[in-house]
Amino acid sequence: MKLIFLGPPGSGKGTQAKILSNNVNIPQISTGDLFRENIKNKTELGIKAQSFMDQGYLVPDEVTNGMAKERLERNDCESGYILDGYPRTIPQAKFLDTVQNIDKVVNFELNEEEVVKRISGRRTCKTCGEMFHLMFKKPQKEGICDKCSNGLIQRPDDAPESVKVRLEVYKKQTEPLIEFYKDQGKILNVSALSSIDEIASKVKEVLEL
Ligand code: AMP
Repeated sequence: MKLIFLGPPGSGKGTQAKILSNNVNIPQISTGDLFRENIKNKTELGIKAQSFMDQGYLVPDEVTNGMAKERLERNDCESGYILDGYPRTIPQAKFLDTVQNIDKVVNFELNEEEVVKRISGRRTCKTCGEMFHLMFKKPQKEGICDKCSNGLIQRPDDAPESVKVRLEVYKKQTEPLIEFYKDQGKILNVSALSSIDEIASKVKEVLEL
């Protein structure tokens, strides 16, 4: 089962990808996480990606496509995967079509006001990457990760100025993918307004799992 999870920043697609990945035992591939890992390890790719990411812009297609292709060719992707945050542009989707056969695209729908509310409350563990939210998924101890007890931070690209840019980028470059995959008959819409558990059940329902 080769899936794409599509949606605006803050729509919870990453959280849902993690849940489904555990349930059906296929990897979640997040290009955002891959970039962050490269930045942490100070690789050449990470250095290339960092300034784009911190400001909320997309990393150029050729860099992203190369990284995604390499990841999707690894053995653990043979029986399927969930792409979280890739593709994000039409050229990326066209490139992906040349190297992989995607089965379905789950599109998480969320209005702009809710997007801003959700992203501004988001906190991330700087060590293990676990995500929390000041309103929807509070850590047990303020500012501390439940999983590894290290400190939580606000990602640089979750700061208000970057969020505005990311939303504009989403509308201009990523939203057209909905039509692109609709034309291929692959889009399954899911409202991202309910609770995490309700959305997870809905995802299973639309995928007939
Ligand atoms: P995410 O964690 O998915 O919100 O991604 C964080 C940032 O990583 C994005 O704002 C982009 O700067 C970069 N990024 C992640 N995925 C892609 C992609 N498919 N194309 C270009 N840039 C990406």
